[in-house]
Amino acid sequence: MPSPSTPLLISGGTLIDGSGNAPIPGTDVLVDGDRIVAVGATGTLAEQVPAGTTVVDATGCTVMPGLIDAHCHSTFDDVQSNDELFFHRPPVAAALVTAFNLPKLLRAGVTSFFDPDTVHGIGPQVRDGLNAGLFEGPRMATGVQALLTSVGGTAGRLIPDEGEVGYAAVVNTMEEMVTTTRRQIKYGADWIKIHATGSIPTHMGELQVWTLDEMKAVCDTAHALGVPVTAHCRNATSTRDAAIAGVDLILHASFLDGEALEAVIASGAAVCPTFTFLANLADYGDAVGASNGMTSIFRGEIDATAAMLRTAYDEGVRLLCGSESGFALTPYGHWHARELEVFVDALGLSPLEAITCATRNNAFAMRMDGQLGVVAEGYRADVLVVDGDPLADIRIMQDKRRLKAVVSRSRSVDLTAPWPERGRIAGEKVGNWAAEVLTYDRAMQAVGRS
Ligand SMILES: [Zn+2]
Repeated sequence: MPSPSTPLLISGGTLIDGSGNAPIPGTDVLVDGDRIVAVGATGTLAEQVPAGTTVVDATGCTVMPGLIDAHCHSTFDDVQSNDELFFHRPPVAAALVTAFNLPKLLRAGVTSFFDPDTVHGIGPQVRDGLNAGLFEGPRMATGVQALLTSVGGTAGRLIPDEGEVGYAAVVNTMEEMVTTTRRQIKYGADWIKIHATGSIPTHMGELQVWTLDEMKAVCDTAHALGVPVTAHCRNATSTRDAAIAGVDLILHASFLDGEALEAVIASGAAVCPTFTFLANLADYGDAVGASNGMTSIFRGEIDATAAMLRTAYDEGVRLLCGSESGFALTPYGHWHARELEVFVDALGLSPLEAITCATRNNAFAMRMDGQLGVVAEGYRADVLVVDGDPLADIRIMQDKRRLKAVVSRSRSVDLTAPWPERGRIAGEKVGNWAAEVLTYDRAMQAVGRS
């Protein structure tokens, strides 16, 4: 960021450092110029505190690293349908609404996020704009567009047979897979994303739509250029093959079986299960007319996957916390910390372990291991002051009123400004003519002339 910040002393709080260490009461944290300069017992940093330092009183509060969201679609604009997402977000509109939405993440305590695939591939330009200080937002690591085979992804037949649409780039041959990977890296991809499973209308659940060899070709190409690969895998075989192919970060890993679990453990891949979308559908979908009585199915996917991922966690697999924010069921600034609650409830992690996943572990998705996600000397200056104890109730992390301070790149975020609100952009919504079909009998029934 171009403009200089003043030093901040966050004083007197209980420190949860993000590395899994037990909390330390009575801690001072000094930040300056996007670095954590010193951490020590309250009152012991006096000699290091420069004149003009702003003091944040954290007495009675928890001080912890800023949250990292390891799966956030920052360019989707809380869309209500795939139709809206793919056909009602032209490139400039997508960029404008992205810049409008990003401050909401900071307001929710998210100081970094990983966005695997972006509408029209604008991710690297958004990231570079953020880094240059064009608009306010967290740190960003980004993909360009997701690579899909012509079977498609989760948008079924909305995906064309070739070419690009929205966040998708269709790659039909091994040659196209390699070329598109190289091209995305040329245009600034921090990560390459493969959509390893997809849905077609005649099939229940998602099918594996990439072969092992195809995934391996992308991994080998990206790795040779120093770029890691992530893959959306919503069944067991795709999770297994992605791990064998060398995918670095597996998204979802739904319904993984023993074979897939073994492959993941052997490969050292990280897993970001992203239960939040399913959990919101299961628990709150009815409230917004979304779930159509499928609550138990979504809860079933969480439970089946969580049971296996608990074993993965115990075997040392790195689990990341991601919210899949960017959809109407996961709007920006509301659900980024929900995954921690699901990690506690469904995976049986302790709140401290869940926080470690969302901070130190998630630095992997930012490609900033050892630099981000821990409150310790030398780390980047992203710090939260939370009114309350998230170890007693992890759900308080979802309540923005509990955030007393959000420090992003050593600057305090203004938490008093009104929440960003906007009107509708012409043409951005998909309208239905009717919610049901108007037959003659239905009409007569409605007017009482049956
Ligand atoms: Zn996603």
